[in-house]
Amino acid sequence: MSIEQFEKIAGRLDGYRDLVVKLQTDLTAIPAISPKSGGKGERRKTAYVRTFLESLGIEDLESRDAPDPEADGGVRPNLIARIPGRDPSRTLWIMSHVDVVPPGDESKWSSPPWEARLDGDRIYGRGVEDNQQGMVASMILAKAFTEEGITPHWNIALLFVADEEVGSTFGIQYLVKEGNPFSPDDLVVVPDGGEPDGSMIEVAEKAILWTRFRVIGKMTHGSTPERGINASRAAAHLITFLDGLYEDFPEKQDVFDPPISTFEPTKREPNVENVNTVPGEDVFFMDARILPSTSLDEVKAKMRSYCDRIAERFKVEVEMDHPMQEEAAPPTDPESPVVHALAPAIEHVYGVKARPMGIGGGTVAAYIRRSGIPAVVWARMDETLHGFDEYVLIPNIIGDAKVFAFVALKPW
Ligand SMILES: [Zn+2]
Repeated sequence: MSIEQFEKIAGRLDGYRDLVVKLQTDLTAIPAISPKSGGKGERRKTAYVRTFLESLGIEDLESRDAPDPEADGGVRPNLIARIPGRDPSRTLWIMSHVDVVPPGDESKWSSPPWEARLDGDRIYGRGVEDNQQGMVASMILAKAFTEEGITPHWNIALLFVADEEVGSTFGIQYLVKEGNPFSPDDLVVVPDGGEPDGSMIEVAEKAILWTRFRVIGKMTHGSTPERGINASRAAAHLITFLDGLYEDFPEKQDVFDPPISTFEPTKREPNVENVNTVPGEDVFFMDARILPSTSLDEVKAKMRSYCDRIAERFKVEVEMDHPMQEEAAPPTDPESPVVHALAPAIEHVYGVKARPMGIGGGTVAAYIRRSGIPAVVWARMDETLHGFDEYVLIPNIIGDAKVFAFVALKPW
């Protein structure tokens, strides 16, 4: 019975190619940039989505706007659209975000970033993939169910959040704090990341630890090193010492790719202008991505012990601080209902065996997981987000909507 219903919905979705192009074009023309990144917020773009859903006859629309005096209208809009199912004990949530990142240097785009450009199956423009792919998939999913007049098995809730790109304070964090809309039995999917073939269901993230190392010696002329202390040499030794972290924390977890904690020296600040000056200070950074089971405090203590050894050996001072640290959210169980519902749907629609995986972090799903709700990040996408010439594939939008329909109809 419900497999026939799925076929009807899938047929509808296949007919929405022109609609997908129109929705993408309209949404792209409304830049929704966070005030923190110099924009006005999402009010107009979310209003467009609301008007579209109202035109379908969807009655259960709930606005959960977060106050933000810097934004257009003084709010950051969050919108929930609900389609009731036959079995109301469980809700399939599709959460997409309305905000986009700025386009950067527009001259580096092949066509204007706020004008969607169609080229075969591709649509180019800022935001078309991140996260209008998820938004448009949600919108056409709603249209297919309402036009076909089919009641899904589970409730469907389409959630359009604000403020994903700069911390989610006014988006999912606000929602979770001010009356968490999710129940532990719900199936929560965040279509905001994935693999080009759709094979990755992201269930876990590593902790993020950024560290700034400041090595202080004594500046002198290049010809008289004995009168100073070369901070650059001490820093170089410290960087190689820090490679020891890979041996100190060798644990492996196969759900992650790569399966280990990583400790990479990254940015290095400029020190002296002249070739003939011995630097008195050297500042470099490390980006560490740490498995959830490893203690950040132990990692920091090990880092400190390497700094102390360098300080003693080279008679320098070494300061250490952390411009960013984020504990890993509790992972979603790879055996959780949302994984078990999504995997067969992906296989049915795309013919791909998807598997639960962990990544280096961090996605917006972490905020949901921390609230005790198992959530996954999944979409079929090339991940062209945030770059120039961002694009989305129309078949992925329609295919992802079919996957969601399959889950909601529960035809197994
Ligand atoms: Zn995104």
